[in-house]
Amino acid sequence: MPPTTLEDLPWNLRLVNRDHPLAADFAPSNLAELPDASWVEPHVNHRVDARIVEDLTAMLTAAEAAGTHPIICSSFRTYDYQENLFENRIERAEREEHLEGTEAEEAAAFWVAPPGASEHQTGLAVDIVDADYLELDEGQEETATQQWLMIHCAEYGFILRYPTDKSATTGIGYEPWHYRYVGKEAASAITQSSLCLEEWLVETYHIQA
Ligand SMILES: [Zn+2]
Repeated sequence: MPPTTLEDLPWNLRLVNRDHPLAADFAPSNLAELPDASWVEPHVNHRVDARIVEDLTAMLTAAEAAGTHPIICSSFRTYDYQENLFENRIERAEREEHLEGTEAEEAAAFWVAPPGASEHQTGLAVDIVDADYLELDEGQEETATQQWLMIHCAEYGFILRYPTDKSATTGIGYEPWHYRYVGKEAASAITQSSLCLEEWLVETYHIQA
């Protein structure tokens, strides 16, 4: 039986966004710490869903073998940590854009997911930057690391989750560093379709996402 609701989807296709947030107490039961590697900064603990460690490691090993220098800068985040990030971004919108209340929240949510709405809480998403360019901005897409990852990530089960032309659908600005694990089969299908995860789930399973 193909899945007919979002709840029926397998773990690797779990949809998390502002319309489908996770509960505050949700955390993956099988978090695994990433082993020491050149893409893990010293004294930083990165945890992800244990089921993606092998493919993630294989992807970054291959990226390095191709001459690039990936660095993981974010992995699993708790609900509380995300709440902090979101509050900080709201304060920045108030300070720099002189927005207030709901307007400041909306502006913040385009760049930082509200608590519960971040894929990082699933343990299935990682932010990867180039060691020579640590900024989380559009310039990231020009780096050797992203150029390689964008072409090859699907071979390892990952998709670039927030493409530049899909902001209206995902509700999230372009993030050429946020990679989401969906498994090799889905990653290949999603990449070939040029759809974002929300659109692909609707088209493939006729699930309203
Ligand atoms: Zn991210």
